[in-house]
Amino acid sequence: MKKGLIVALLVPLLGFAQLSSLIPAPKNMERTRKSFVWEKGISFYCPPEFKNTPCKLTLWGLVHQYKEDSANKADISVTALPKTPGYHSEYYKLSITPKQIRIAAYSDTGVFRAAMTLLQMLPADWIQTRQSGFKLPCVNIEDQPEFSYRGLHLDVCRHFFPVSFIKRYIDAMAMHKYNVFHWHLTEDQGWRIEIKKYPKLTEVGAWRNGSQKGRYAEHRFDSLRYGGFYTQNEVKGIVEYARQRYITVIPEIEMPGHSLAALAAYPQLSCTGGPFEVAKGWGVFDDVYCAGNDSMLAFLKDVLSEVLALFPSKYIHIGGDECPKTRWEKCPKCQNRMKTEGLKDEHELQSWFVQHMEKWLNARGRSIIGWDEILEGGLAPNATVMSWRGTEGAEAAARQGHKAIMTPGNPCYFDHCQSKDSTEPIAIGGYNSLEMVYQFRPFSKGIDSSLQHFILGAQGNVWTEYMETESHVEYMVWPRAAALSEVLWTGPGGDFETFRKRLPADIRRLKTIGVNYAPHLGSKP
Ligand SMILES: [Zn+2]
Repeated sequence: MKKGLIVALLVPLLGFAQLSSLIPAPKNMERTRKSFVWEKGISFYCPPEFKNTPCKLTLWGLVHQYKEDSANKADISVTALPKTPGYHSEYYKLSITPKQIRIAAYSDTGVFRAAMTLLQMLPADWIQTRQSGFKLPCVNIEDQPEFSYRGLHLDVCRHFFPVSFIKRYIDAMAMHKYNVFHWHLTEDQGWRIEIKKYPKLTEVGAWRNGSQKGRYAEHRFDSLRYGGFYTQNEVKGIVEYARQRYITVIPEIEMPGHSLAALAAYPQLSCTGGPFEVAKGWGVFDDVYCAGNDSMLAFLKDVLSEVLALFPSKYIHIGGDECPKTRWEKCPKCQNRMKTEGLKDEHELQSWFVQHMEKWLNARGRSIIGWDEILEGGLAPNATVMSWRGTEGAEAAARQGHKAIMTPGNPCYFDHCQSKDSTEPIAIGGYNSLEMVYQFRPFSKGIDSSLQHFILGAQGNVWTEYMETESHVEYMVWPRAAALSEVLWTGPGGDFETFRKRLPADIRRLKTIGVNYAPHLGSKP
């Protein structure tokens, strides 16, 4: 890290703005006084090892102006490192000499991360201008991430966003070396993924007859029909788009709570039989899937079968949060299930349900992630816990030998306010400033060092009750997600002031790919 500090001091003197614009900052970076001139039509070499997944300097057309050349002669030359025990698949070396740009990596993932660093060294608007003739500073960068799980989440249920937006969201993530997109696809307020066996999920469940407006306490609603969903082809397209950017998409199919949109389509899956309406307002609803109903279990397995065919991710998120037990307490089917399974209360019934679904998913080679409520009533044997009500859920999971992902409301919820300025748009509440996000430490005090390996990483969560437009979502996400990317890639404990100085270049890059951001956060309060 000392080296990083030296670079930060030298760069302004030497006039190479490029190095002071890297977010997340590389772990190790040394620079020399020389430079490489980026000319038009420079040549490129990629070794056969990386040919199957074509060398991913292609993003944003980076490769288009290249011509293939031999390893020694090419302006940009990629080397495949021999795989050694303990190698990190995302590791890369980026060396720029006056004659050549060299990338070395164990895998094409590493090549891609290097390419993103290189892209950040080009002029901020290069993606648009394709300019040439500028100088790149000569550097030796050696880099790999601190955390293996670096996620950004998006709720497309409270408000729906088109495929073009999702792709732009993924682009901005890729630039910041995120590797997981957690896609929240089902909710009380809308079911957003086509399921061929149950067409009513989207015919009925994807649409609501009005939406809550303004602050929550106002209880104000409009009566406009609102909704939308992704076809399976669109989902496939997004999963592939993310894959090309070395981002895994983890779908979230909520169960047993937050299921009103599904119940509106198929009321027989509930305890009472309905009828139900897709929720117009925000919050938590009493009507949930009936845990005593075998046809409900069959329904969810059918849904998940189609989901598994679309998402190759190892993890499937099954929600598990905020499930009131009100209906289960009075439902003869649920009570009967508790009796036959020997469960002492409704929390154990929820745990039984989650374990049942986990077993089914494990048998198909997948693992579940659930919100930290899945700890209540006993954790499913192989579950990974996403800790959102503080960090305690992750701590408890780690103590039980389970993996966990940190998403505590403070500071990982990007739907909370980011500034105390009175002109800020309405938000759900809370206050997570850019600096609070930057100072976040995924290893909380409650995690003993011997348990740290259970903490896979962290994620920024983006619930969209109060975000109706694409630009509003992006305003809430950036640059806070840039701060989190550095915590997760470079590691926590960086200096906020030097991060803040690198931010304007990052913001210019986001602007170039059409992403909105909160512009005032880079300045001192
Ligand atoms: Zn029931």
